[in-house]
Amino acid sequence: MPRVYNFSAGPSMLPEPVLNKAAAELLDYQGSGQSVMEMSHRSKVFMGIYEEAQALWREVMGIPENYKVLFLQGGASSQFAAVPMNLMTKSGKADYVLSGQFSTKAYKEAARYGDCKVVASSKDDNFSHIPALDPQEFRPDADYFHICMNNTIYGTVWNTLPDTGSVPLVADISSCILSKPIDVTKFGLLYAGAQKNVAPAGLTIVIVREDLLGEPMECTPTMFNYKVMAENDSMYNTPPCWPIYMSKLVLEWIKNDIGGLGKMEERNVRKAQLLYDFLDQSKLFQGCAEKQDRSIMNVTFVTGDKDLDAKFVAESTAAGFVNLKGHRSVGGMRASIYNAMPEEGIQKLVDFMAKFEAENK
Ligand SMILES: *Cc1c(COP(=O)(O)O)cnc(C)c1O
Repeated sequence: MPRVYNFSAGPSMLPEPVLNKAAAELLDYQGSGQSVMEMSHRSKVFMGIYEEAQALWREVMGIPENYKVLFLQGGASSQFAAVPMNLMTKSGKADYVLSGQFSTKAYKEAARYGDCKVVASSKDDNFSHIPALDPQEFRPDADYFHICMNNTIYGTVWNTLPDTGSVPLVADISSCILSKPIDVTKFGLLYAGAQKNVAPAGLTIVIVREDLLGEPMECTPTMFNYKVMAENDSMYNTPPCWPIYMSKLVLEWIKNDIGGLGKMEERNVRKAQLLYDFLDQSKLFQGCAEKQDRSIMNVTFVTGDKDLDAKFVAESTAAGFVNLKGHRSVGGMRASIYNAMPEEGIQKLVDFMAKFEAENK
């Protein structure tokens, strides 16, 4: 069967050259006579993969010396607890912006460990935009300020970062990591699950400024302790070896095949523009996110008729465009068009949508 165009929000498509490389090395990694899946994480050969992956993360994302790159497990959702446990330790306060379901989950989890404040929310508008901020609401003594950069379910993104002064900015970048250049120095901590733009599920990336690696709360499980993980090169226990290796291949693809994150962004903007331009002229389909906050990774849209939405999802699936159904909490459709989705996949989807529109006037 030919490969489908997979618009899944995550786990999602991986670049074909990466899958081919992994397949070619599957049984015998570079003359070691073993698969990466079978290696001891302490072996010289795996340590080589780890070191290369670390160096590539730093190079491709431009991560400065005074930040640690941690390879953890438990998904972005574990960081909803690990962030407060490690960082909410001075005033015991943290500020949160609610821009969707994941930031709300992050806030609820953190509120179990300290004094969390919602400084803005767009819940009343069904999270169709990034909420407006009133800096008067920010607490200058907060231990950190949390945002979710790209709202996977609603298809919105922060284009302008909040100015939090000396309060460290913490961002969940699960669904936009590696999609464009990010100025890491603007953040105290960044975290992401790997399964959207980086690697198969199982790896969680945490990029944290070294001065924030203090003493976590007494209740913090050792596995959640950033300092312990940093001191042990993320190998306090067995790390997610295979996704670390796959992240290395994806970073090599971005660096060598694409030409870096600047080029990646150009490609992603072109892809998203194709789809948004179609939605903006369509008489059947409408985009859900407000224009100024539209995501280039997750594009949400509806026909305005639930039955027609269902018909579209069924027919598109049969035509080889899979996982276009919107998140169960919002309905409609969502095209997740991460780095690995080729431009041709979007063009073919747009052609299919135009045909569907003509047939369903
Ligand atoms: C997918 C996603 C999560 C959840 O990630 P897990 O790794 O499944 O815990 C959290 N935040 C955002 C923004 C996401 O897109």
